[in-house]
Amino acid sequence: MNYGHPLEFGTFLTPSAGTPEDVVALAKQSEELGFDLVTFQDHPYQTAYLDTWTLMSWVAGQTESIRIAANVLNLPLRPPAVLARSAASLDLLSSGRFELSLGAGAYWTAIEAMGGRRLEPGPSVAALSEAIDVIRGLWDAGERRALRYDGDYYQVSGAQRGPLPAHEIPIWIGANKPRMLRLIGRKADGWVATLGYLLPGEFQAANRTIDEAALNAGRDPREIRRLVNISGRFSDTPGGFLNGPSDQWVRDLLPLVVDDGAGTFILLSDDLATMEQFARDVMPALRDAVTHALPSLGSAPKLRRADARAKRRSGIAYDDVPASLVDAAIEPGDLAYARVKSTYMRGGSPGIVLPVKNRDEVIDALAFARAHPDLPLSVRSAGHGISGRSTNDGGIVIDLGEMNAIEVLDPATRRVRIEPGARWMDVAAALEPYGWALSSGDYGGVGVGGLATAGGIGWLAREHGLTIDHLRAVEMVLADGSVVRASNGENPDLFWAVRGAGANFGIVTSFEFEVDTVGDVGWAQLVLDASDPAALLERWGAAVEAAPRDLTSFIILGPPRRGQPAVAQMLTMIDSDQPETIINRLQPLANAAPLYDQYVVITSYASVLANAQPGYHSGRGEPVGRSGLVDHITPKFAEAAARLLRSGEVYFFQIRSVGGAVSDVDPEATAYANRSANFAVAAFGINQARLDAVWNELRPYFDGLYLSFETDLRPERLEDAFPPRSLERLRALKARYDPDNVFRDNFNIAPVALPAGI
Ligand SMILES: Cc1cc2nc3c(=O)[nH]c(=O)nc-3n(C[C@H](O)[C@H](O)[C@H](O)COP(=O)(O)OP(=O)(O)OC[C@H]3O[C@@H](n4cnc5c(N)ncnc54)[C@H](O)[C@@H]3O)c2cc1C
Repeated sequence: MNYGHPLEFGTFLTPSAGTPEDVVALAKQSEELGFDLVTFQDHPYQTAYLDTWTLMSWVAGQTESIRIAANVLNLPLRPPAVLARSAASLDLLSSGRFELSLGAGAYWTAIEAMGGRRLEPGPSVAALSEAIDVIRGLWDAGERRALRYDGDYYQVSGAQRGPLPAHEIPIWIGANKPRMLRLIGRKADGWVATLGYLLPGEFQAANRTIDEAALNAGRDPREIRRLVNISGRFSDTPGGFLNGPSDQWVRDLLPLVVDDGAGTFILLSDDLATMEQFARDVMPALRDAVTHALPSLGSAPKLRRADARAKRRSGIAYDDVPASLVDAAIEPGDLAYARVKSTYMRGGSPGIVLPVKNRDEVIDALAFARAHPDLPLSVRSAGHGISGRSTNDGGIVIDLGEMNAIEVLDPATRRVRIEPGARWMDVAAALEPYGWALSSGDYGGVGVGGLATAGGIGWLAREHGLTIDHLRAVEMVLADGSVVRASNGENPDLFWAVRGAGANFGIVTSFEFEVDTVGDVGWAQLVLDASDPAALLERWGAAVEAAPRDLTSFIILGPPRRGQPAVAQMLTMIDSDQPETIINRLQPLANAAPLYDQYVVITSYASVLANAQPGYHSGRGEPVGRSGLVDHITPKFAEAAARLLRSGEVYFFQIRSVGGAVSDVDPEATAYANRSANFAVAAFGINQARLDAVWNELRPYFDGLYLSFETDLRPERLEDAFPPRSLERLRALKARYDPDNVFRDNFNIAPVALPAGI
């Protein structure tokens, strides 16, 4: 039987210490010749050989695309917990090119001489089985609890998990004996066999043993790739098995693939001419012959291990994932799940994450989501949502992170097209060479998709307005899967709604912005005494309102650290590269309270936004935040804010200046409507009810809220976020564009059809 794996080819090289450069050269030639894999034997007790790990790392650094494995690693001399880390590290360093193949060991005297422990055949199987558990346990970086493992051979008492490998590293085992073959059937991802060690007929019998053990363990035998080490001799005259001309090699190997399920052939040879002939004559011809004999080979979707499938959530038709998404889809049992389950602010456990690369895939993903109307649906661009969840429990996530292109459409009009998965630091870096910037937020990791559908309050707000004020058109996939363009001239109602309430109306697949000319800016971080927060806030607010529009400032307060004075951070951007202007603008702000520290530079907008940490999100729990817009920092408001701070319920309190260009825009021009405010206020706490209680004291001062900083998703908040006329219009548009309320997870606007004529 064939197991459905696309046919692959590898080389098997001797890691000779005498001529290390030759081994590396052959590895590079393997890549050039088109082999998929280069492997090296591992005998750490052999002084004639290089250490295989070191060699593999070196080769990984010298090659670009070929995958790398040992053939096979000597487990008795390589503790599994360390192996797991080494494998993950090399996989990360090589961009996902490392595969792990293990062997139970042989040559026990030599192993013992190196300090290894002799294992008889039975215990060898048990030790290998335990090693697989330990290795997979340590790779499971999404699991927060430290790994504890109490085996007969290996004990781990609280090891931190990770690093997460770059790809799902398969574990292959090199073996011939029935007990080991049964272990492969139960647990491994591949079997490494060596023709020659196996007598005729033994390969087939061994496959049957593996298959039977797999079935007994509830697995599908197709989960296990069969890798076959082969050796032979090319000659002009036909001889025995793999001893003759190239076409004979093809004829010899074909039945092993078609009838016996070999998925990978690994050529044992250090002879370049043999490798070349194999690559030139055998590999393509064998591929053609296999395609002819098995036309559908490789077209079956990726098959997950049974233990991974067991982690699937109920209610999701996993087998119906559209063909365009099946390879990229990430399920709870996949290693990559740790990278995508949570967002910056919250922990999540979705049932499936569908990464999409283009608009058509968005349409497919949405169709899949529509077929699951009762499940939560999250739309994720860069995962910094606060009001928007972009993860969930047991539902579907459509992840647009890979749709992150940034393209200049017209330099003359500064028209730029940006995809939703781009992060603002990348946008800023892409625009900087043109001398341009786009008013965005304060944190470079935030995504374009979430921010540019809500508002966008950032360092250039007073001078250049909100991000949405620069939007000229969007392309969207609507709830029914249709694609529309919206601008002032096309679907203007939808374009109005997208600018402030976009998350309710569809998935934006590209944004067209008109950006501004912005050169170097002044960037200041001042630390001031906040022992009288009310006075500080009032003075800061007055100074900001009196400042020219080229200044935008944020102030942040929190509970004082034990034994330290209460301080406030003032973060301010001045759109000027003139030191005098910058100092003049900053002086009134610095006078608001005693100044403890200051850092002022002239730099680019892009360098200010280059502040996000790399790596995947690992948020936990749920954020608890409230938001309000206020026209002025009056003494009464400042006092109320000081009481809020004293309550101890707020760990982060921030006021951002808006006003200026934000207020120039007609409040009816965009769904974001509260344009008179000079300040946007946000507070984060631990407990929603307790935060609400203290926040309510501030509510009388607010006129509107910015939904991006709000986590109270009760319908009343919609009435705070949108004036009555706007909300009515949004509800009617929701009824038109998303009557079934597909997009409901971010400040849901219930669809309400208006009477005819309104
Ligand atoms: C550290 C941090 C700093 C921030 N700084 C600022 C700031 O300075 N200024 C500011 O205005 N905001 C700021 N925010 C808030 C931020 O704008 C929102 O949280 C925004 O939604 C994040 O966008 P995202 O794409 O990263 O989020 P995601 O979590 O990917 O998306 C959030 C929500 O937006 C919607 N959404 C995402 N992509 C699309 C799309 N393509 N089409 C339609 N809807 C979509 C979905 O409802 C989703 O749940 C900040 C947030 C954080 C966590």
